[in-house]
Amino acid sequence: MTALTLIAPTPALLAPTFSVNWDHVTPRILSLAYIAAALLFILALAGLSRQETAQRGNKLGITGMAFALVATIWAVIQYDYSGVALTSFLILLALVIGGGIGVWKARNVEMTGMPELIALLHSFVGLAAVLVGFNSFIETPGAHSATNAFHMGEVGLAVFIGAVTLTGSIVAFLKLSAKISGKPLTLPGRNLMNLAAILVSIALMIWMGHSRGLASGIVPLIILTIVALALGAHLVLAIGGGDMPVVVSMLNSYSGWAAAMAGFTLSNDLLIITGALVGSSGAYLSYIMCKAMNRSFISVILGGFGSEGAVSTEDRDYGEHREIIAADAAQLLLSAKSVVITPGYGMAVAQAQYPVADLTRKLREKGVDVRFGIHPVAGRLPGHMNVLLAEAKVPYDIVMEMDEINDDFASTDVVLVIGANDTVNPAAEEPGSPIAGMPVLKVWEAAHVIAFKRSMGNAGYAGVQNPLFFRENTQMLLGDAKKSVEDIVANL
Ligand code: NDP
Repeated sequence: MTALTLIAPTPALLAPTFSVNWDHVTPRILSLAYIAAALLFILALAGLSRQETAQRGNKLGITGMAFALVATIWAVIQYDYSGVALTSFLILLALVIGGGIGVWKARNVEMTGMPELIALLHSFVGLAAVLVGFNSFIETPGAHSATNAFHMGEVGLAVFIGAVTLTGSIVAFLKLSAKISGKPLTLPGRNLMNLAAILVSIALMIWMGHSRGLASGIVPLIILTIVALALGAHLVLAIGGGDMPVVVSMLNSYSGWAAAMAGFTLSNDLLIITGALVGSSGAYLSYIMCKAMNRSFISVILGGFGSEGAVSTEDRDYGEHREIIAADAAQLLLSAKSVVITPGYGMAVAQAQYPVADLTRKLREKGVDVRFGIHPVAGRLPGHMNVLLAEAKVPYDIVMEMDEINDDFASTDVVLVIGANDTVNPAAEEPGSPIAGMPVLKVWEAAHVIAFKRSMGNAGYAGVQNPLFFRENTQMLLGDAKKSVEDIVANL
């Protein structure tokens, strides 16, 4: 016997000490991974709440999602008794197809196309919740007995919220991508129809709870799905252009609750936690945006409840507009002490943020006080302008929110309205206007306003004419915003 065989224990001795009972270990590892993922998601939300920490927040969210995915896939393979090879193959296939589409979309999407992409992604969450609800209804043992009313309630709610999210998000996608009109659909008695759909849905859920067997339960479930699909589409069709930002964040919230309900039916704690985080943060964002836009939260979630009576300002004659060329705009800026730039969706379309950052730096070097005024719904995404300006390295401390800067316009020499329209529209102060009551940046109070736009033909997102462009102190700089700003910089 050699020295080596004396020291090294035989495999037979090692086996009992190191054998792992995966049936006991897997749930513990899964719980630990889920707790870690949930904590990372909470930290991600905290990070995303401030511009300076947003990138870190994103990375934490990605790490949390990686934990959740790896742990879930591993556990599914561990628990699979029907054939590890088949399960692994199906998961891999789904990952390759889903991941491939995700990477392709992320690389191709324009920043201006993000809102509709997000709306479409919300619809997938809604669809998933509906499918999970149906699957759970068909598969869960005992689901068809009268004693399982609680489970039927979970299934009913998952399908209801999922279906509302699904069609609501598809309509939002169609509106945001201008495939259908952005104007609100105001059917007579629409509020009563919405209320009736909600009451019928509750009655159908109670019917499901009392049904016995697959055959009798599936009838109310299918009717519930159809009613909820119609309700989701109608709620979003009834919302007007200017209120779409709130709809996007509201659908974000609905998709969270749909995921949480799917978590209940699947008994998956992480899905419940994540869904609740998305649901509540989306609801809070909708509330903040409603407050910022002076809209009633209840009115918006109930599909524009109480928003009748808008009068179009389209046919009014506002007189002639005045134009300015880049060289004169540069002279005006050089003679100014204070300048405020109010960017809007057009800056995103033109990708003008880099020349705008250049212009800002050059003016500040010449002693001009330059600040930015950001409207809460400028662009097509919450925080859209802040992201673009951060990308172009504009210092955070000169980027002001609407409330911080609105009182300063009266003492400002020059305001540059770069591709903004609805968010600087004084028509919001006229009762009866479709955007009435929406707080706007009061740029017209400044001594001079230069408005950048491609032509005088198009209105802003809400489709409302903008009297600002015809005021005495406003001059239009027509053309692509990027080119116009570059021309000004060249003339400084
Ligand atoms: P608007 O969408 O109201 O107006 C955009 C302006 O940019 C227009 O005057 C357009 O005129 C001009 N423009 C477009 N392209 C260019 C270009 N290449 N160069 C120069 N100008 C250009 O912008 P706002 O940011 O003021 O308002 C945002 C609107 O979008 C609000 O109604 C808001 O409710 C809505 N919305 C916001 C969302 C959000 O989350 N922030 C989501 C969904 C909707 P022209 O075409 O003549 O060039």
